[in-house]
Amino acid sequence: MTLRTAAVIGAGLAGLACARTLADAGVAVSVFDKGRAAGGRLATRRVETEARLRLGFDHGAQYLTAKGAGFGAVLAAHAVPWPSVTDRAGAFVGSPGMSALPRALAAGLSLSPSRTVVAVDRVGEGWLVRHHEGDLVRGPAPAAPPDAAGPFDAVAIAVPHPQAMPLLPVALATRLAPVTVAPCWALLAAFAAPLAAPDTLRPEAGAIVWAARDSAKPGRTAEAECWVAHAGPGWTREHLERKPDEVAALLLASLASLAGGLPPVLHAAAHRWRYALVEVPLGEPCLVDTALRIGAAGDWCLGSRAEHAWDSGAALAEALLAP
Ligand SMILES: Cc1cc2nc3c(=O)[nH]c(=O)nc-3n(C[C@H](O)[C@H](O)[C@H](O)COP(=O)(O)OP(=O)(O)OC[C@H]3O[C@@H](n4cnc5c(N)ncnc54)[C@H](O)[C@@H]3O)c2cc1C
Repeated sequence: MTLRTAAVIGAGLAGLACARTLADAGVAVSVFDKGRAAGGRLATRRVETEARLRLGFDHGAQYLTAKGAGFGAVLAAHAVPWPSVTDRAGAFVGSPGMSALPRALAAGLSLSPSRTVVAVDRVGEGWLVRHHEGDLVRGPAPAAPPDAAGPFDAVAIAVPHPQAMPLLPVALATRLAPVTVAPCWALLAAFAAPLAAPDTLRPEAGAIVWAARDSAKPGRTAEAECWVAHAGPGWTREHLERKPDEVAALLLASLASLAGGLPPVLHAAAHRWRYALVEVPLGEPCLVDTALRIGAAGDWCLGSRAEHAWDSGAALAEALLAP
């Protein structure tokens, strides 16, 4: 049976790759995401301080690289080189923020933002997608029953693997058991003067494993010196349930010791990525039941980089389109 309609749950890179591939093949695609915009972990946090300074931080993925032609074409079309990453060839970023890349990829797609999908139900030969308004992970549980969309001929679930499990048929969900993903605490900090440090740091010891002068990325318009620092998986796990303010203070102290002191702090916040970087991937491009026309994709299928998410989403679309 020809695939005419599909729902894609999740508008991170995997969901966008899947949705674009399906749409290019003539399928009517509806995309749902619990966030306010497309992007997932390709994110930019905009902040206005009390002193009305406008700041921006790429607090998720820092830079993007491509080994294959598919994601290489995406970067060539929608990203710009960032030469400050001196230890990796061909590093790219979205501009004026990382989130510009997923925004460009989502253009022209039918995207329902602020919609948390809570169930995917088989109805006849198709699938009903049940969703609530808002981000239910962050917001309160709703009293009303969920809305329903569909039925769709196919469903692609492109969310982190723990969030995919309850939406998938049991036979597919059980195959996710070996996958593991590390969390990451991120520091978002702005200063009144430049730090005495190069644009990127990759320390080998201590809490912080990566720090970057975000305001030096191409096209940034931040009105102060902005830095993002990422804690390593061990440190993050040890401090996972601490309050963000406490984590921000600890990571600021760590950054101070790396930079030999800090200028006056204008802004400091911490963001916890519960599912940040894949440690053990599934080892297959995607998970799919081609008879039922349901499947899952994400970086967790192939590895820890954004390109893995893109390749996985595209592979799921191809599997669903196969006759
Ligand atoms: C701190 C950090 C640093 C990183 N650094 C790099 C880097 O430098 N280079 C690199 O290549 N990669 C990096 N990565 C990894 C990269 O960001 C990811 O591999 C990639 O963005 C994953 O894309 P995805 O589509 O698989 O998942 P996500 O981006 O997580 O997208 C999943 C989407 O699903 C949505 N969602 C989840 N559950 C539901 C639901 N029930 N209903 C509706 N929507 C839902 C979410 O809102 C989200 O938008 C980093 C990641 C983090 C967190």
